[in-house]
Amino acid sequence: MSDIKRPTTAAAWVEADRLHLLHPQHHPSEQQNPIIWSRGEGATLYDTEGRAYLDGLSGMWNVHLGHGRWELVEAASRQLSTLAFATAYAGATHEPAIRLAERLKKIAPAGIESFFFTTSGSEATDTSIRTARWFWRAQGKPAKTKIIAREWSYHGSTIGAASATGVDEFSEGFGPRLPGFLHIPSPYPYRFDGDGEAAADLLEAAILREGPETVAAFIAEPVQGGGGGVIVPPDGYFERIREICDSHDVLFIADEVITGFGRTGKWFALEHWGIAPDIVQFAKGITSGYVPLGGIGISARIKDVLDGAESDRRWWHGFTASAHPVACAVALETLRIIDEERLVERAAGQGGALLGRLREALGWHPHVGEVRGLGLLAGVELVADRRTRARFAPEFRIASKLRAELLARGLYTRIVNDTICLAPPLTTTDTDLSRIADIVIDAVETVCRPTKS
Ligand code: PMP
Repeated sequence: MSDIKRPTTAAAWVEADRLHLLHPQHHPSEQQNPIIWSRGEGATLYDTEGRAYLDGLSGMWNVHLGHGRWELVEAASRQLSTLAFATAYAGATHEPAIRLAERLKKIAPAGIESFFFTTSGSEATDTSIRTARWFWRAQGKPAKTKIIAREWSYHGSTIGAASATGVDEFSEGFGPRLPGFLHIPSPYPYRFDGDGEAAADLLEAAILREGPETVAAFIAEPVQGGGGGVIVPPDGYFERIREICDSHDVLFIADEVITGFGRTGKWFALEHWGIAPDIVQFAKGITSGYVPLGGIGISARIKDVLDGAESDRRWWHGFTASAHPVACAVALETLRIIDEERLVERAAGQGGALLGRLREALGWHPHVGEVRGLGLLAGVELVADRRTRARFAPEFRIASKLRAELLARGLYTRIVNDTICLAPPLTTTDTDLSRIADIVIDAVETVCRPTKS
């Protein structure tokens, strides 16, 4: 018997947490009264006090199928009892990984041929960056190493991914970003003065300034989520980005970690603009978050170089848990269910209805700058002054006030860049979705009472 005493009261759990657990984006003030999750069912999460919260963010933008799906439990359990782990390092392979790669080929953007698996989105970002550099070096262009990313982007928390991330807080205090990472403005329609093509042309200007012979890749989320608060680019942006990358021999990496697997009403969000990347990265929804899995897909052109005679060198990249059999089995089952329940189409329909409802109720509000979204991914950006688009002063603590009001009404989600982000499970019922909208509307009206001018 262990002599470790298990806490029995909520206060004891909080104290044990405070002493021994470091949290992602740790901040001690937020651990004084944390929610202690206990279980989930459908689109609802419960805490240890028995309170119910609608899961407005699908966990962390990842639980596409909702909580408590026995099919995923059984897929994991079957795989755990057959082959819990065996390596897929060069020279070995296994069926769940092969089947998953084959399945992904069918839904991935056109031209994406082969897949590599990680356990997280951050590792996927690092993998993309290393692969892009490796690709150019193998072709005798070792100077092509720079990575161009965008302001307001989030690509992860490993040092490479954080260097690509375009929100300074993720690098401040950790020393400088790695050399060779640059950021251009985001095509943030609400705050960028210009159309999609003008925003894309900033990429061309940056490539020309740096010298195309030094630039390996451009990395972008189709919809900026964790750093920007659901920023949907204007039409014309990604089409022009593709042209620019092609004309300067720069690889285009699409970070579809949030937007992949139906979230925006397409399997992958770039389909909205009819273009394909050279590398696509994914994570989160591929397993509905039940077990960790991420990865990248690469075009035939990159695969040819990896396989080609000119590359007499091994691709020195891999993780112990790459292509973990249990994660691959859960991913296969997740994709089967997304298909069977037609959740991609459902996200498009339900997302349209949610956006329509939020726009109708809040579109006029003097403190709502913009209601935006794509598929079942929506954002409501709050501003101090709708006319000037001025942000709230930090002392107003808009995010923590909103969070408190949302939680008090039974909705869990995150507020990023003063934007309430919504990405509920793709299986959320219409009733729950309409309740989510009611709560957001009510919380905004409570926190941001119009001031008389
Ligand atoms: N890329 C994007 C677009 C993301 O949203 C995230 C996570 N929010 C990541 C990368 C990093 O993924 P992870 O947290 O799994 O490392």
